[in-house]
Amino acid sequence: MSLYVYDFDEGVSDTFGVRHPGGRDLLGGKGAGLAEMTQLGIPVPAGFTITTDACRAYMREGGLPGGLEEEIAAHIARLEERAGKRFGDPEDPLLVSVRSGAAVSMPGMMDSILNVGLNDAAVGGLARTTGNEAFAEDCYRRLVQMFGETVDGVEFGRAQPSLREAAEIYERETGRGFPQDAREQLRRAVVAVFESWNTPRAQVYRHTYGIPDDIGTAVNVVQMVFGNKGETSATGVCFTRNPSTGEVGVYGEYLVNAQGEDVVAGIRTPQPLEEMAQRLPDAYAQLLDTMARLEQHYRDMQDIEFTIEEGKLFLLQTRSAKRTAAASLKAAVDMTAESLITREEAIARIDPTQLDQLLHPMLDPTAEFEVAARGLNASPGAASGKIVLDADTAAERGKGGEAVILVRWETTPDDIHGLIQSQGVLTAHGGMTSHAAVVARGMGKPCVAGCEGLQIDVDAKTVRLGEHLLREGDVITMDGGTGRVIVGRVPLVPPAINEDFETILVWSDEVRRLRVRANADNAGDAAKAREFGAEGIGLCRTEHMFFGDERLPVVQEMILASDEAGRRAALDRLLPFQQSDFEAIFEAMAGLPVTIRLLDPPLHEFLPPLDEATDERMRSRIRALTESNPMLGTRGCRLGIQWPEIYEMQVRAIARAARAVHEQPLVEIMHPLVGFAEELRRLRELTEHVMAEEAPDIEYVCGTMIELPRAALRADEVAEYADFFSFGTNDLTQTTLGMSRDDAEGKFLTFYLEDGVIERNPFETLDQGGVGELMRIAVERGRGARKEIKLGICGEHGGDPASVEFCHGLGLDYVSCSPYRVPVARLAAAQAVLKQARRAEYVSAGG
Ligand code: PEP
Ligand code: MG
Repeated sequence: MSLYVYDFDEGVSDTFGVRHPGGRDLLGGKGAGLAEMTQLGIPVPAGFTITTDACRAYMREGGLPGGLEEEIAAHIARLEERAGKRFGDPEDPLLVSVRSGAAVSMPGMMDSILNVGLNDAAVGGLARTTGNEAFAEDCYRRLVQMFGETVDGVEFGRAQPSLREAAEIYERETGRGFPQDAREQLRRAVVAVFESWNTPRAQVYRHTYGIPDDIGTAVNVVQMVFGNKGETSATGVCFTRNPSTGEVGVYGEYLVNAQGEDVVAGIRTPQPLEEMAQRLPDAYAQLLDTMARLEQHYRDMQDIEFTIEEGKLFLLQTRSAKRTAAASLKAAVDMTAESLITREEAIARIDPTQLDQLLHPMLDPTAEFEVAARGLNASPGAASGKIVLDADTAAERGKGGEAVILVRWETTPDDIHGLIQSQGVLTAHGGMTSHAAVVARGMGKPCVAGCEGLQIDVDAKTVRLGEHLLREGDVITMDGGTGRVIVGRVPLVPPAINEDFETILVWSDEVRRLRVRANADNAGDAAKAREFGAEGIGLCRTEHMFFGDERLPVVQEMILASDEAGRRAALDRLLPFQQSDFEAIFEAMAGLPVTIRLLDPPLHEFLPPLDEATDERMRSRIRALTESNPMLGTRGCRLGIQWPEIYEMQVRAIARAARAVHEQPLVEIMHPLVGFAEELRRLRELTEHVMAEEAPDIEYVCGTMIELPRAALRADEVAEYADFFSFGTNDLTQTTLGMSRDDAEGKFLTFYLEDGVIERNPFETLDQGGVGELMRIAVERGRGARKEIKLGICGEHGGDPASVEFCHGLGLDYVSCSPYRVPVARLAAAQAVLKQARRAEYVSAGG
């Protein structure tokens, strides 16, 4: 019985995304695709998959698990039988490729080795049986090089060596001749693929995309088919729809007389697929037919690798295509219209984090500029930044907050850390399926590839861009949507939501239960939020209303006043400013709820540093207000309790603004950083008193943020005075974890994430086990005490898809996030409903 190895035709499959035992998790994406294509009768070379279980066992045991080598030998024997060739035969050798393939696609991150089974004798046999000596030598040279690089870490340099040179380099670097035993080659190749799971680049990739470290990769051993057998042979990559735009149509690239890695590595610039119609018409027709079948079968856009050996087509891989956000939306909407998928499937298919791409800037259409060079529009979006010529520098400067653009001849998987920290990537070489293009599209960064007007002199640290000679550090602007590159900075504009995006959002609105609000503290942001579909403001911070040239001196006067009367006099002068700010926001949000959070930061933030104090009085006040730990000091409602006249003024300004506007909003007055019910009792009294005085006719509610563990734990008591709770998960995360965000990110937290102590940044994605548990308690106790209490979240997590899903599960009423993330939250909220329904279905089916 198989433990670790399955032939492609052993009937293990992964139909319609339902994972049977033995599906994608076990066989990896590539293995599952090969098995399924075999079942569909699509031409696939024969072969077998060594499962991810084997990889996990390898990692656990630090070596190949017992029995695996025997299983591999048995499957090789079956492959030999089928192929009518023997592995290691010097006369007519069976050759295989050894390819990585995890359950989650990680393009280019792990290793593959082609032509395993060749040696000094078999190369002659291959030459004789094919009548093509050059081909045989080319195959052997590729094996020596790929095996050398992957298994033994040999560096062969840039230039393509001859077979003899490659063998010499191998021997010089390893101190041994190239291994001649086919079975030893295979065993070491399998080990190398397992090992490649843990290369730094693969780890960086996994951490970037939140892929678990322990799932391991499968290894596919595939009978070789040759795209490098001459002019009727070819290899290529194609997509069933355009991965940049989502448009239907033939889309791909191929190379005549080449092997697969030539296309993906960007070593030769490939030809557009359409050209194949003339050169290899039969194979082309069969390819188009197969592409259509695969898309129908998987009901999703496919990314396909193929090889044509002397006119005969073979598919080597099919997988769900990585695509830009725009392409995702278009394909989902179109496929729904084609009745290929349902609306729910269309919603579920969009990666909400990817939508960010569309919410990124574009070149200002009214700006005038001269295009210095053009390349392929490999990944859309626009960016300006300083030229950087290597990935390490890009990573370092990018981390330091500089906007950089990585400019390279081409990129390789080893550049991943530089790509992550760059605003965009520009390459002189490579096509739409080159590494830079694929990775940038996945990350939603602009990429211009194959820019022929670009020459790079790495030693001199200069770049020639069309007619311009530039140095590293000079600023350029690139537009990945059109392939244009411009010297200097071009103004960028925020994007608008296109029709496909709007369609998906409208569908999402029909499905979601959570309401989506925005955090906005001025009329401009409020208007933007509405444009993006916000259904109210969940957090209007009032701090900035105390800053500004006209206001700050008055605020300082208030702080420096020696008694309450002095403070009140200053506050009276501040009130009109606040009132007009509130009026503008209320107008923009006519009729919708607006939650206004009263002043939060400590007062010393409004005073200058001690050495800039203008007189002794100011100096002594600064000293008195200085705190050794301001995050835990006189913040939030503690301020309002000690200086109630400040909150009184704010509530008065809110009341007057609400009366002044045409259409009243639903006013929600929110008190920050409450820890004790008594705090809120007092502040509610204050609020009610002022509202009754100023605007007895205005309806409003009064509530609190939940930002402290104590407030969450005593939510039943706090709820007695609260019409609503809004989880301030920025502070709740800091106070629960005992981490100040400023002192964690970029410091020990970065180390924790890199070292795997924790998997996610808790300031970006809710720490469900800790902070989430406190939220759950607060929801339960809050609702227990006051059934109709309204519950929301306004920390940054309100725009994070995984956190939105969690909030849906908790039964919150709304999430609130920055205006640009409102569309992301709308989609994520709908997906949460669909996921919950799927889980329920699974459970009721006895899952
Ligand atoms: C919070 O703490 O989550 C919050 C929204 O408040 P702020 O970020 O202003 O502290
Ligand atoms: Mg806070």
